[in-house]
Amino acid sequence: MSRELDVVVVGSLNVDLTAGVHRHPRQGETVRATALTTGPGGKGANQAVAAARLGARTALIGRVGADAHGQDLLAALGADGVETARTLRDESAATGTALINVAETGENSIVVAAGANAHVSPDDLAAARPLIDSARVVSVVLEVPVDAVCAAARAARDAGARLALNLSPVVDLPAEVLAAADPLIVNEHEAREVLQRNGVQLPGEEVGYAEALRQVGARSVVVTLGPRGAAVTEPGHAEHVPGAPADAVDTTGAGDAFAATVAWRVGQGDALAEAARWATRVAARSVQQPGAQPSYPKLADVVS
Ligand code: ADP
Repeated sequence: MSRELDVVVVGSLNVDLTAGVHRHPRQGETVRATALTTGPGGKGANQAVAAARLGARTALIGRVGADAHGQDLLAALGADGVETARTLRDESAATGTALINVAETGENSIVVAAGANAHVSPDDLAAARPLIDSARVVSVVLEVPVDAVCAAARAARDAGARLALNLSPVVDLPAEVLAAADPLIVNEHEAREVLQRNGVQLPGEEVGYAEALRQVGARSVVVTLGPRGAAVTEPGHAEHVPGAPADAVDTTGAGDAFAATVAWRVGQGDALAEAARWATRVAARSVQQPGAQPSYPKLADVVS
């Protein structure tokens, strides 16, 4: 079977409305913003853009509202060459929106309105089967309903595509979906949550989380560890991949860039640790620029 797409992402699209504030408002209080920016976001869209910028042939399955924000998000994806034929415009919901306040201390507070993301359905996945059938890797990230995640995992299996599952934020998934994840990708907070939900005692060292998660059921696992890189485990191999050095100014969307890079590289035949080495280089570039999508590098920026 020909595999015309490197990565098909299933996940959320949001418009990020970011206000700079001197300090966060107290309950009932109104404060003035020092700045307001509007930008493309959502974990699914971030992953799709990160993969496409590296040269991966990428499509995104998801939903936006039939409003101006949705139009802008589709245009941003198109500008990066992401295939959006199955990124649906939903007449009955607004585009997903993240209301982000960033205080002078750098502390964020975020409210997310799921909007159209909450309508992504198993039927959407069924309609997108031709895309999935032509994919090397189906990369699923949350912020969309669990039944759509399950449908994506089944479709990937039936199509013979590899499933990368970025379980962010953590939700309970059927055991067979977790078992199909190759890899399961989580950050250390998410790793702790999955282990606790499954009644597994936490290992003393974060690098041990990956092996513990494999015992929970995933075929292979990557646990991202911020500046310390990632712990990687797949059958017969476990490794701590150190972080690439970076002067971090904004880590927003670093995890999405990391997951997208791993998905792309394993689809190119890399071992998981090698894919994670690529991902640490891409994510380290992204933390040195503000924002999520605007910070993602092109392939030429990470190969030298
Ligand atoms: P998330 O953004 O999902 O919370 P992490 O904080 O673990 O996830 O970051 C994801 C990846 O981004 C890390 O594995 C690492 O490769 C890279 N990264 C994050 N912060 C830094 C940093 N300060 N310096 C270098 N790389 C970083």
